[in-house]
Amino acid sequence: MPAAVNIAVRGRVQGVGFRPFVFQLAHSYQLCGTVQNNMDGVKIYLEGQLEMIQAFLEDLRKKAPRLSKIDEIMVEDSPILHAVDFSIIESERSGTSKLVIPIDSAVCDDCLKEMNDPNDFRYQYPFINCTQCGPRYTIIEELPYDRPYTTMKSFPMCEDCRREYEDPANRRHHAQPIACPKCGPKVRLVNQDAKEIISENPIKDTIALLKEGKIIAIKGIGGYHLCCDARNKQAVLLLRNRKNRPVRPLAVMAASVSIAREFAEISDFEEELLESPEAPIVILRKQKSYDLADGVAPNMKTIGVMLPYSPLHHLLFSNAGLSCLVMTSANPSGMPILYKDEEAFQYLAGISDYYLVHNREILHPVDDSVIQVNNGKLDFLRRSRGYVPDPFSAAEDVTGVIAFGSQQKNTFTIGRNQQIFIGPHIGDLENMETIAHFKQELDHLLKWIDTPKMAAVIDAHPDYENQKIVKEYDFDEVIEIQHHHAHMAACMAEHRLSGKALGIILDGTGYGMDGNVWGFEIFYGDALDFERLAHLHYTPLPGGEKCIREPWRNAAAMLIDLHGIEGLQLAKAIFPDKVKEIDILKLMIDRGMNTVFAGTCGRLFDAVSALSGVTTFSSYEGEAAIQLAELADEDFIYPAYSFHLLESSILTIDFSPMLKQIALDVLAKKSKGQISGSFHETVVQAIMSAIERLGETKLDLVRTVVLSGGSFHNRYLRKRLSALLQESGFQVYVPEKVPCNDGGISYGQLAAAAAKRRASKCV
Ligand code: ZN
Ligand code: ZN
Ligand code: FE
Repeated sequence: MPAAVNIAVRGRVQGVGFRPFVFQLAHSYQLCGTVQNNMDGVKIYLEGQLEMIQAFLEDLRKKAPRLSKIDEIMVEDSPILHAVDFSIIESERSGTSKLVIPIDSAVCDDCLKEMNDPNDFRYQYPFINCTQCGPRYTIIEELPYDRPYTTMKSFPMCEDCRREYEDPANRRHHAQPIACPKCGPKVRLVNQDAKEIISENPIKDTIALLKEGKIIAIKGIGGYHLCCDARNKQAVLLLRNRKNRPVRPLAVMAASVSIAREFAEISDFEEELLESPEAPIVILRKQKSYDLADGVAPNMKTIGVMLPYSPLHHLLFSNAGLSCLVMTSANPSGMPILYKDEEAFQYLAGISDYYLVHNREILHPVDDSVIQVNNGKLDFLRRSRGYVPDPFSAAEDVTGVIAFGSQQKNTFTIGRNQQIFIGPHIGDLENMETIAHFKQELDHLLKWIDTPKMAAVIDAHPDYENQKIVKEYDFDEVIEIQHHHAHMAACMAEHRLSGKALGIILDGTGYGMDGNVWGFEIFYGDALDFERLAHLHYTPLPGGEKCIREPWRNAAAMLIDLHGIEGLQLAKAIFPDKVKEIDILKLMIDRGMNTVFAGTCGRLFDAVSALSGVTTFSSYEGEAAIQLAELADEDFIYPAYSFHLLESSILTIDFSPMLKQIALDVLAKKSKGQISGSFHETVVQAIMSAIERLGETKLDLVRTVVLSGGSFHNRYLRKRLSALLQESGFQVYVPEKVPCNDGGISYGQLAAAAAKRRASKCV
């Protein structure tokens, strides 16, 4: 039967060879029509036999080019236009919006094959690349993406490279970073005094040094890594000592999937992620036969693993001997990743023994992306290299909306037409360097995306840096969005949920509209607005920030506040070496000195972690909660402790009975794993009870729940809550393309602001 359809494809479909692919696919099914780029992606008109069209649609997703990433395919019937052939036609896009910002990609198999072929003129060349792989975003100075506008401009092509570059039939046709040993960038090995070590083969020497247990800073695609042999105990400890990073897990790079399998469990889904062109760090469960140095990921059931993604990385593993390297971002604590040679030499003095550097300049630093498969779904911990700046499709026109994100794990997000661009991971906006980094990357992307600056969106926290930064930009309008509402809106926008939903937001900290610290919330609403239905009972954080770094303070404060004199005695019994400080804490609480009130999931986890003796001092953000979560097994269901639901104007969840029971269990020397498991289950049960209670009054119509906030990286909470909610008849949604942590705040801010803009236009 003859038929015709219009197809809209959105996502990363421009500048990745998508139109030629569609052209070939249409031909193979004897279909006529056209394909073109438009403002939001690729537009296809197709006519022919219905079965052929259906087969085409199936292949469109399955056989799409390596570098494309389809976000959405929309198909609608069309009148038959009686086309006579299939052709690629002129883009509907105009002006600067024609310009595509390409992403960095892991080296492809074709290039690797050449690199390993002794007869190829790029044999063992660490900068081999083609149109389907190599650096992009990180080396662009200006758009359009053309060699003279990249840091490759300082390497004039040799004749051989030029021939390939200019030949339309060659797989390096218009591969902008094309290079070879004759004309391209070179590596150098440099010592601590920034002096070059003259060497025939700097990579071979680097391997030898790594084998000796040395620490080497290696310049990669998005910045410097600090490396050492992941099986060498002394080297790992040395790296930890020099970097002053006592326990935070280090990521590793394994030579191959089969090497990684020796120490980590890998599902098919996880293998696909490891081998994807984005090549993220994937958080995997350690294998029973785990045999990397203890210091790599101490006290963790999991390990972050990536595969070599640049040709240089592959060469490091080529000369037998090394199979797994620690590869951690080289950045001074709290600062952006180092990417300039001079800065690396300066900041890494005394940390790395040598530097393996190269003369292809990095312009836009990007961190490795970090991802895990959580309850069968993608869970981004950090969305950066390889994914930035992929466009997301929006349900409406979001032109001119620019969201500045959160204070922690900051990202920004820019809207243009029906596309949303999330920028790279910036970090915590807590020092000059990171703030400068934020502005530099925001300015570049604003220029490249070329959208008018209409509405800025910021977090409602009065002390966040964004409040100051936004004043440096010229916006007609500044919209403030409450932190957890942004978390909720992010998940709703990602799944295109338009009605009202229930939002369960479990998070670290966020500024609440009553001036307290929120982060354990049950909301009802949509992107436009929310009603706060339930939250965690507030407890004092005497000393504020200090309680976060030293969770034992938070634990003691909770016991004192919730259980008075009995709580004070329990706290002293559990932290016997802190008796004096505990008395001071009590005084501070009684007098309300330097004390804020908080009801957050992150702080609750901190307190329980400290109480049960897991983490009393945090050496990195989230440590106490992460270490506690590691002890709970998500394949098990634990008995719950008791809790109360307090009914007043807002339903309040009160864990005071649980905290006392935990304190008693700790004193009775009950196992930490049991305590952690029961604590997790109590959190789940309390939320389910609260929802049941709310259901009796106002929620009988809502069947949609979104789970968001950083605590949903927690595997037990995610799995168990999703299961129980589904059993109760709810449709459960979690963020899958955008981080559930604060890295997703800017995306949610944009969605919320767009809804407000739409509402104000309707009035
Ligand atoms: Zn390639
Ligand atoms: Zn060349
Ligand atoms: Fe948050």
